[in-house]
Amino acid sequence: VPLVLASLILGVANLKDMTKLARMGGRTFLLFLCTAFIATSLGLLLVNITQPGKRLSEQTKSELMTLYSPAAEKAMGKAAAIKESPLQPLVDIVPDNIFGAMSDNARMAQVVLFALLFGIAIIKIEPSKGDVLIGFFDAVNDVLIKLVTIIMQAAPFGVFALIAAIPKLDELISPLLIYIGTVILGLLIMLLVIYPMVFMHFSKIKYGQFFKQMRPALLLAFTTSSSSATLPVTMERVENHLGVPKDVTGFVLPLGTTINMDGTALYQAVAAVFMAQALGLELSILQMALIVVTATIAAAGAAGIPGAGMITLIIVLDAVHVPAEAIALIMAPDRILDMCRTVVNVAGDAVAAVVIAGAEEKSKPVILNPEIK
Ligand code: ASP
Repeated sequence: VPLVLASLILGVANLKDMTKLARMGGRTFLLFLCTAFIATSLGLLLVNITQPGKRLSEQTKSELMTLYSPAAEKAMGKAAAIKESPLQPLVDIVPDNIFGAMSDNARMAQVVLFALLFGIAIIKIEPSKGDVLIGFFDAVNDVLIKLVTIIMQAAPFGVFALIAAIPKLDELISPLLIYIGTVILGLLIMLLVIYPMVFMHFSKIKYGQFFKQMRPALLLAFTTSSSSATLPVTMERVENHLGVPKDVTGFVLPLGTTINMDGTALYQAVAAVFMAQALGLELSILQMALIVVTATIAAAGAAGIPGAGMITLIIVLDAVHVPAEAIALIMAPDRILDMCRTVVNVAGDAVAAVVIAGAEEKSKPVILNPEIK
């Protein structure tokens, strides 16, 4: 909760000068939204074709269900309630008491809404006061990122314990491999099909060149699993090697690092459906649509650090009433998927910077820096 709160408030509040940045901001948000929408929809499509979670026997499903009850039972009760009132999720994202919401992980979506409004309000108050809050949340954000990094060092032991508790692990292996394959296939489609299509419209640079120039940043993203840690290198490559003007990189890239996470959005959509399938929960079309919306928000709420996408995945799970404890099922391969999705997150930010620069300066298309070989 504190991590989502601080990083989202910062992402919104950093827009600062609304009037000057309104046009660029509007375009950037629209682009982020569109690519996240494509990513989650693609993830949903693929996981519904491969259906990794359905490859489990009925018995294993019911054993998993028992393991995760009473959370699972509660979830099924909630799922029944949603059928009665399909608009209930809309009511549910509005907090009646923000402190109540902040003390309950299952109400993360309410915290997200609050953070968005809070960020907007910061922009609208006197800058001298707004800056105090921005400085404060910036520091809180850094502290929390450090905290998570420290805690993540113990993750292998936690994963070991969680995996040891899963019954019939051998039966889970092949669905897990298909799940991993589905996420990676989706990420590759984003990188090699969707991005080039968007990119080529706004730039004279060949997409192969884009890869070549961005390679150090993409490699760093892969090895660190952190788009925040990669940000300085991303900025340097996009600015000096892809020739995107400084005012665009300074705005689009830090914002993108916080809220533009196509790889994470795609992964969350696939993971949520995989878990629902593994527990034998049938998802309706409405719930699938809800996954698209919530995964877009949840990915935006994830900080650019290792494992953050798995934390905000709870927002998606909560929205479709899959018990959050089922995250244990996907924990083991999460690091490797994190490495892959971070590459797409960083590539997505760089593509966005090129597109925004191209849209801002129609007469001067973005070209490779001539000094770079
Ligand atoms: N590690 C990812 C990033 O830094 C976020 C995630 O966990 O999905 O972009």
